[in-house]
Amino acid sequence: MSKGRVLITGAAGFLGSHLCDRFINEGFEVIGMDNLITGNLENIEHLFKLKEFEFYNHDVSKFVHVSGELDYIVHFASPASPIDYLKIPIQTLKVGSLGTHNCLGLAKAKNARIIVASTSEVYGDPLVHPQTEDYYGNVNPIGPRGVYDEAKRFQEAMTMAYHTYHKLETRIVRIFNTYGPRMRLNDGRVLPAFIGQALRGEDLTVFGDGSQTRSFCYVDDLVEGIYRLLMSDYPYPVNIGNPDEITIKEFADEIIKLTGTEQKVIYKPLPKDDPMQRQPNIDRAKEILGWEPKISRAEGLKITYDYFRSLPDEKLYKKEH
Ligand code: NAD
Ligand code: UDP
Repeated sequence: MSKGRVLITGAAGFLGSHLCDRFINEGFEVIGMDNLITGNLENIEHLFKLKEFEFYNHDVSKFVHVSGELDYIVHFASPASPIDYLKIPIQTLKVGSLGTHNCLGLAKAKNARIIVASTSEVYGDPLVHPQTEDYYGNVNPIGPRGVYDEAKRFQEAMTMAYHTYHKLETRIVRIFNTYGPRMRLNDGRVLPAFIGQALRGEDLTVFGDGSQTRSFCYVDDLVEGIYRLLMSDYPYPVNIGNPDEITIKEFADEIIKLTGTEQKVIYKPLPKDDPMQRQPNIDRAKEILGWEPKISRAEGLKITYDYFRSLPDEKLYKKEH
């Protein structure tokens, strides 16, 4: 018997597709929704044969209609790579604001619980390190990244308003850099960028002097944290990420070692407003969800490298940007 019906927006994307798998495996019926602006149906094509899975090709920034009952909404639709959201800034602002409003309205109409995908970007270029959930952030609203960061900050405000004024069951997950199979090789994020360069025999492009830091979480760990948060009764934001922090230069060196490439690191200008450091404080997730990441970077990178290596050459050489 089905555990319930879940709508997952952004279903054809990297994280959305892994969430579809998880909810199907848990025994839910899943409706995947996506307009394919940065996603790819290949990520969920294995689900199309299942009677527990349906797909709606729809832009969630426009009115969202789903017939029948809904128990949960998992709102993950939004470009996530800086290169993507700089290319489609207005759509990014719309999906974080109007898209979130539509999903909240649908949750209210169906009396469903909703979780929204927020981000470490709500902390901007943080002045508090590591970042705790009670830090308000340091975001430039009119800078290039503002279209993403402010949409996500608005998303959080709107979600809390529905919780407070409509007593809706809401959850907010603040996701830190996550990686794994099904990322697009050419989406511009640092991990696919470096592995793609290594596989093509190109030098690895480090932006700035490479002293900026990130903390990379393997996708299965993230999905576990999201699932636990949705099933919890906690309505305030929770950081989910791996606190194992590394500089981008060290990260490039790790990829060089992992792939055995003979190429070297070359330096390119640092994009404007690129955060200098980022590391989640996960005390809240540990305390409330009993969650912490289990997969080391070495293990996760190996799985992800094997995935990218298995892709056909046309994907490796496809230029998107
Ligand atoms: P992704 O680009 O792979 O997936 C996003 C999906 O949303 C795509 O399939 C895209 O086509 C779809 N989409 C975008 N706008 C839409 C719209 N208006 N209507 C319907 N579908 C739409 O990105 P991802 O890495 O899977 O990120 C998913 C979510 O997680 C995003 O909300 C992102 O902000 C958040 N997030 C991701 C990370 C990360 O490290 N991957 C970190 C922080 C937050
Ligand atoms: N970066 C880099 N080389 C690349 C792509 C990204 O040095 O080819 C840097 C980028 O400037 C940032 C970090 O890697 O400091 C992570 O970038 P990403 O786009 O993956 O995500 P962000 O955390 O900035 O949203």
